[in-house]
Amino acid sequence: MSKSATDIAFVPTMGALHDGHLSLIRQARALTPNVVVSIFVNPLQFDNPDDLAKYPRDLEGDIAKAESAGATRIWAPTYDEVYPTTFEKLSAGDVGKTFEGASRPGHFDGMLTVVNQLFKAVQPRYAIFGEKDFQQLFIVRNWVRHAGIPIEIIPGPIVRESDGLAMSSRNVRLRPEDRLAALVISRALRSGTKEQALEILQSEPAFTLDYAQIVDPSTFTIANEPVEGSRMIVAGWINGVRLLDNMPMSVSA
Ligand code: AMP
Repeated sequence: MSKSATDIAFVPTMGALHDGHLSLIRQARALTPNVVVSIFVNPLQFDNPDDLAKYPRDLEGDIAKAESAGATRIWAPTYDEVYPTTFEKLSAGDVGKTFEGASRPGHFDGMLTVVNQLFKAVQPRYAIFGEKDFQQLFIVRNWVRHAGIPIEIIPGPIVRESDGLAMSSRNVRLRPEDRLAALVISRALRSGTKEQALEILQSEPAFTLDYAQIVDPSTFTIANEPVEGSRMIVAGWINGVRLLDNMPMSVSA
């Protein structure tokens, strides 16, 4: 595919934008002058109605932030715009049932379904997805490859607060003491081995562990030994707020 002035780079989001989202928008803008940002809290990917109801929303603030980072079109569709009376429901397959998918049944099917709907509407040449949601990135990439969809999926590095906490829209729901306890996650990831990571995570009473594993980047299955490109992935809850993060593992670790 040759580059064209009409190529669109697309950044799908659920809003409550932070610097992690903005870095994806900047990355998109470096690829093409046509940057579309969608803001849509997708009910299909929430298995927990409380999480959906509490999901932070700030459309006005989001528009200003997205524009300042280089978005040329901000699209905040209604449910009916995204989902007409009949639409295709996609399945994220076996990988969609592990890790995040095991704790949030149907999450990745709903995610892939909305990405498909958004892609059909926006018709981008590029789509930028954050490494923060590493399993999501894996599933989207695999789907695009296998379905032969002519969209380049581009990963964006995780943006962290200066103390190491991965930025997330859900972080606003953390009380100051939760916010402090949440630092255990990046500390554990930096430890470099699964054993040490587990020890660090278990030392924080406010943190409820869901999983901490090393995954093989080519299959998204557990790697018993770090392999080239492998990541440690961690998820859990602090005071009912779900947090997830990951970091590359060095092979010599
Ligand atoms: P969300 O609004 O949470 O659905 O996220 C929209 C996009 O932003 C996804 O591709 C996320 O992976 C990405 N994203 C969220 N947090 C971060 C972060 N801290 N750094 C980089 N990308 C992020």
